[in-house]
Amino acid sequence: MKEFTLIDHLEDLDAESKYLVHKAKEAALHAYAPYSKFMVGAAALLDNGKVVTGTNQENAAYPSGMCAERVVLYALSAQYPEQKIVRLAVAARRKNGKDLVPATSCGPCRQVMLEFEGKQADPFKVVMLGPDNRWVVASSAESLLPFSFSKSNLEHGHNTSGHE
Ligand SMILES: [Zn+2]
Repeated sequence: MKEFTLIDHLEDLDAESKYLVHKAKEAALHAYAPYSKFMVGAAALLDNGKVVTGTNQENAAYPSGMCAERVVLYALSAQYPEQKIVRLAVAARRKNGKDLVPATSCGPCRQVMLEFEGKQADPFKVVMLGPDNRWVVASSAESLLPFSFSKSNLEHGHNTSGHE
């Protein structure tokens, strides 16, 4: 199974990814990022066809802030608890900047993606702009976090594979 596809230009992404990147980029305009000025948007497509967006939310007490990816994941889980995620896109821009800048998801966001993937028992694709301005399309959240800690560790502490 191919875990990542790297694509040089936004126009060359599949239609669904392009649309979600567009929604994420649009959402990023309204990010609350007065400290970093690094505006991030995330957009998730659900299997009922709904698109849910989120943005990063900063706080004067820095650790109280939250990344766009987790904002959107928690929001969709609260609003559509029964729906599965099909695809998630992330897009970032600097305040007053027009172009997208590379922003690959942080570790804790990947961990939360993995939890959601486990919960829905189906992988979802993750699209983000990586180094050298190349689009990364990951085939699953799991592929973004090898050797991870998950539900299976708690259920089968003796299982060294991390899988059932
Ligand atoms: Zn994050």
